[in-house]
Amino acid sequence: MSNLPLMDGITLIDSGMIREGLAACYALERDGRIAIIETGTRNSVPRILAWLADNSYGRDQVDYVIATHVHLDHAGGVGLLMQEIEGATLVIHPRGARHMAQPAKLQAGATAVYGEEAYQQMYGDLIPVSEDRMHIAEDGSTLTLGASTLTFLDTPGHANHHFCVHESVSNGFFTGDTFGIAYRELLVAGRPFIFPSSTPVQFNPEALKASIQRMLEFGTERMFLTHYGMVEEPAALALELYEQIDGYVAICDEVLAQMPEAGFERGALIQERLTEFTLARALAHGCEEATAREHIAFDMGLNAQGLEVWLAGRS
Ligand SMILES: [Zn+2]
Repeated sequence: MSNLPLMDGITLIDSGMIREGLAACYALERDGRIAIIETGTRNSVPRILAWLADNSYGRDQVDYVIATHVHLDHAGGVGLLMQEIEGATLVIHPRGARHMAQPAKLQAGATAVYGEEAYQQMYGDLIPVSEDRMHIAEDGSTLTLGASTLTFLDTPGHANHHFCVHESVSNGFFTGDTFGIAYRELLVAGRPFIFPSSTPVQFNPEALKASIQRMLEFGTERMFLTHYGMVEEPAALALELYEQIDGYVAICDEVLAQMPEAGFERGALIQERLTEFTLARALAHGCEEATAREHIAFDMGLNAQGLEVWLAGRS
């Protein structure tokens, strides 16, 4: 189990999903009040509760459970965590709320992506949250946690039910999947290798770029990525993301011209081209090839599926 204190009052709690270092939860503590941002899966909940106990925090100090969006590596544990922390309020995007109240459709959707067996192993059955324990965070709305202000921005592009959370004391954003993915294993001399996430089923390249731009306009100094950890100098990293989002679109256009028919083969071709494209960038960044291949493989599969869905919806 690995917890990583990042800055004063902000701790990364590894979700334990699939492997250490894949998906983070964050504990934010301000003046004795606590928000948990991202819950991981239901298997992550004991880790979050253990962190509270290990640091002598009472469960009654947790005001908010926040999920940036309802994809299950972020929100799969929400129902169980809300059951365990009776006084907490779930903060959720307007488009995410009904999925948390009635998670059957969400579970069916994720089962379709991963298959029944892998689904059950990773996520298990989802527990509904009653609507009177939810706070729907509209775009631009704020909440306070101790002396800190949390500001919620609607950030579509990865998903339509996605917000990012600005925290005033750290001047950082909890970005979910909107500001891409940067695994610690691919750091080179402290510089993160970042790439976008186009997971099914609502990837929208123009909206994603606009959402990233909106966060930068906030004058933020750092980003807390769910995959994985804190990154700084966000303006430079945003340029890398824009380039790659455009690159993804270009790859889709080329593949579409070559293979107009949707289906498994086209998805496989997109995955191959995405992997080549991302690997070349990782090598240019200074990553070691085997490590890069290993750490991008899972996401290239998901990203290709997301692009195939986007392409099918476009034509
Ligand atoms: Zn994610």
